[in-house]
Amino acid sequence: MKPAPFKYHAPTTVDEAVGLLADYGYDAKILAGGQSLIPTMNFRLSQPAVLIDLNRIPDLFYINPTRDGGVRIGAMTRHASVEQSDLVADVAPLISETMPWIAHPQIRNRGTFGGSIAHADPSSELPAVLLALGGQVQATSQRGGRWIDADDFFLGLFATALEPDEMLTAVAFGPMPARSGYAVREVSRRHGDFALVGVTALVELDAAGACANARLIYFSVSDGPVAANQAVAALIGQKPTAEVIQAAADLAASADIPEPNADIHATTAYRRHLISVLGRQALTQAFGRASAQIAGPGGAK
Ligand SMILES: Cc1cc2nc3c(=O)[nH]c(=O)nc-3n(C[C@H](O)[C@H](O)[C@H](O)COP(=O)(O)OP(=O)(O)OC[C@H]3O[C@@H](n4cnc5c(N)ncnc54)[C@H](O)[C@@H]3O)c2cc1C
Repeated sequence: MKPAPFKYHAPTTVDEAVGLLADYGYDAKILAGGQSLIPTMNFRLSQPAVLIDLNRIPDLFYINPTRDGGVRIGAMTRHASVEQSDLVADVAPLISETMPWIAHPQIRNRGTFGGSIAHADPSSELPAVLLALGGQVQATSQRGGRWIDADDFFLGLFATALEPDEMLTAVAFGPMPARSGYAVREVSRRHGDFALVGVTALVELDAAGACANARLIYFSVSDGPVAANQAVAALIGQKPTAEVIQAAADLAASADIPEPNADIHATTAYRRHLISVLGRQALTQAFGRASAQIAGPGGAK
């Protein structure tokens, strides 16, 4: 099928783009990499009257260091550029490790970092990564710019805190905390498919090797990314032994997400099983990486 008719604008500056958004509001859709939007338009699941194409705005394509030792990624930066960035690998290695899980190389050549986060697909990896790392999203409109904390950004199925006249212009991440480790795990039917269940983990140890802080964020289990807070509460203050990690992963499945979504690909029971298994694997690797930092140079990062 072909999309329904629409008006097309290709602004060359952010000012021009937000001016168009102010003019058209709910009638307009932003076109980033088009990897999610164009298929839905071709199926006529989405019929925007106006498309605002961001591909000719050079100011939205960048990966820059921030003064606090973090990294800022422009909305239109392609997945492939993020995947290949040495700066991202150094400052936010969880992102680098996650990128190859997103779709296929051809899609990562066009799909954008900002587009994936603005789209808020509950099966996507990057919203969970944003939450695990405690990143921030920059929203820009004619009214000005604001930064939204990851915890406040995702509101539900394909829903975010962006207002109709706002566009996502950048995403920022601070540096990794001391004595921290990270991991990402997912199961999909074929590599490149959306995950049946996935999880990202960030853990911090205190000087004595006990868990000081943790984030365990699941995706493809509900209407959006889910923080397994009860699992995390069971980890805080504990030495991350195999038993403690197993108990936390089991809590994620039994208390945090007891009724994950069912669909033609996976039952609730299967997803619940994956929540426990993947949670254990992710926490084990994340704590292993954090412990290696306490052990000193020579350990894995
Ligand atoms: C076969 C296939 C497999 C895929 N597998 C995965 C996968 O495993 N994991 C995964 O995460 N993704 C997957 N994707 C999706 C892919 O990663 C997309 O690139 C991503 O979801 C959307 O990015 P995009 O730049 O293409 O956005 P677009 O498709 O252009 O836009 C998506 C939505 O976000 C809005 N939007 C885009 N940019 C902005 C902005 N700057 N401000 C405000 N709103 C904006 C658009 O208006 C639209 O509603 C897959 C896609 C395909 C076709």
